[in-house]
Amino acid sequence: MSKKKYQDQTLVNHDQITDQYGAVVPPIYQNSLFTFKSWEEIDKAFDHKADAYIYSRLMNPTARVAEDKIAGLCNGGKAKLCASGIAAITSAVLHCVKANDHIITIRNIYGPTNSFLSTYLKNKLNVELTYVDGRDVQEFEDAIQSNTTLIYLESPASLTFELQDLRSICHIAKNRKIKTVIDNTWASPIFQKPLEMGVDIEVHSVSKYIGGHSDLVAGVIVSSEEIMNQIITAEHELLGAKIAPFEAWLILRSLRTLPIRMKALMQNAMEVAKYLESHPKIARVNYPGLESFDQYKLAQKQMTGCGSLLSFELKTDHIGSIKAFVNSLELFSLGVSWGGHDSLVYAPVISYLKELSPDQFSAMGINAGLIRISVGLESPKDLKEDLEKALLNI
Ligand SMILES: *Cc1c(COP(=O)(O)O)cnc(C)c1O
Repeated sequence: MSKKKYQDQTLVNHDQITDQYGAVVPPIYQNSLFTFKSWEEIDKAFDHKADAYIYSRLMNPTARVAEDKIAGLCNGGKAKLCASGIAAITSAVLHCVKANDHIITIRNIYGPTNSFLSTYLKNKLNVELTYVDGRDVQEFEDAIQSNTTLIYLESPASLTFELQDLRSICHIAKNRKIKTVIDNTWASPIFQKPLEMGVDIEVHSVSKYIGGHSDLVAGVIVSSEEIMNQIITAEHELLGAKIAPFEAWLILRSLRTLPIRMKALMQNAMEVAKYLESHPKIARVNYPGLESFDQYKLAQKQMTGCGSLLSFELKTDHIGSIKAFVNSLELFSLGVSWGGHDSLVYAPVISYLKELSPDQFSAMGINAGLIRISVGLESPKDLKEDLEKALLNI
């Protein structure tokens, strides 16, 4: 992969001015198809399908501007925006596996990804799955079978924030010709560059930090040009989870501020995490930016910063108290998702009480008092005061 020309901040904020009247912001190409002047021209376009504007299910000029910027941020050969993060994930995984193959992944992987790997692929294609403790590189090596074709990573994982040692795992995978895919949503393309550490394919839920304003659902796949051309003409074209031009335009708008948003979000999250860590009613804070975090050294080694999603354990597991805490927060709205301008809170116990028995719940190493917050761009002083007030309820 070639060394990129500009720093991230320049890359997202400088555009080549096109012939569109010198418009400073690229237009939304709200069209389904592109026409050709001659037989010869359309014939040539079909020969280079992955790079030609033919039909907007395959490629659209508005999407292309945003895709090129994301590919640049990730130091990849090419990027493809998709209709959702999960569309990016399923396309990337399907590129790597066929019937009867074997996948290795980590415990505590994002829920819908887990359903796809463990249930959907098992039932439809008899794909085998082994879970490992992602913190232990040896467990990955020990889990490899003759039919292993994919190691699927999420570092840090989005509930417990456990990391995987990306360089070591990719070294093992490359020696055995096993592909690696990483969900890099938490660190964002600003703070972690997995392709530079040897990962084959990087995916993001663009609905989180890249979108950043809680107003769109999208995903992106980034890899070498060779792998991307295969994904574009197979999984992307045939499964059809394409991005809409307006969403692509919003993503381009969001990319302008991604580097400065990530910096501000990290500062806020650090301040809130340190406050929570010092609070007597809190047992522990899971945040890779804290020196007290188990894998702090590895976090420093493979990331240049941290996202603003973190979790903490209340000292109580009394459901009534946890409920009172969550309900009395004013600035942290109760909801799923994360990565926007607005602070959010979620108590995983709400869904686990519906889906799992208490035994299954604790087997995951998670207790009822675990609270997840997404720290937004509000004043950290106000956020801390809101938490302080709510903690009086337990
Ligand atoms: C939200 C999320 C996804 C799925 O993305 P969608 O855009 O909601 O489809 C994947 N991975 C992680 C870590 C997420 O938080």
